[in-house]
Amino acid sequence: MKKIAVYPGSFDPITNGHVDIIKRGLRMFDELIVLIAHNPNKKTLFTVEERLGMIREVIRDCKNVRVDSFDGLLVEYVKGAGANVILRGLRALSDFEYEFQLALINRRLNRDVETVFLMSGFKWFYTSSKIINEAASLGGSVKGLVPEIVNLKLQEKYSYKGGIL
Ligand code: ADP
Repeated sequence: MKKIAVYPGSFDPITNGHVDIIKRGLRMFDELIVLIAHNPNKKTLFTVEERLGMIREVIRDCKNVRVDSFDGLLVEYVKGAGANVILRGLRALSDFEYEFQLALINRRLNRDVETVFLMSGFKWFYTSSKIINEAASLGGSVKGLVPEIVNLKLQEKYSYKGGIL
C-alpha cells in the first residue's frame, strides 16, 4: 500500500524550516501533500493563491509532492486523499503542547490517522513564519531563512508598505 502523508500548516509564507521537513518527509513516504489548512477568519499576510504559488515554485523539482488547500476538518481531508499520516515539525518545547493537543484531537476524530513528528533541522530551530514576517516588515533581511522566491515576495509586499526596499 502506498504511504501518503499530509503536511498541513499555514505556510504564511513557506520557510526553509518547512522545506527541510518536506524533503525529509519525502524520504519516509511515497507521496506527500503539502496542505495549506486555511481558516477564512484568520488574517494572513499572503492569500491562499499566493501561498500555493510560492510552494509550487519551491517544490517544482521534487517528485512525489504536491500542494493543495483546504478549509475543513483536517482528518476528513486526510481520509479523502487516501492518506493515513499527518506530518508535523517540532521546534522548541513551545511547539510541543499545542502539537500534542492537535495530535490527540485528530486521533480521537479518526483512529486510523497517525501524526508523525520530525524534529526541526538544527539550522531552522528558531525559524517561524511569524518571526520572518516581523523581521521583514521592519526592513530586516531574511535571506537564507526562506526560499529565494519567498524573499522576493516579502520584499515586494513590504516595499509597498514602506518596509524593505
Ligand atoms: P509556523 O508555525 O511557522 O507559522 P505553520 O503553521 O505553517 O508554521 O507550521 C506547519 C508545521 O510546520 C507545524 O508542524 C510547525 O511546527 C512546522 N514548522 C514550522 N516551522 C518549522 C521549522 N523551522 N522547523 C520544523 N518545523 C517547522
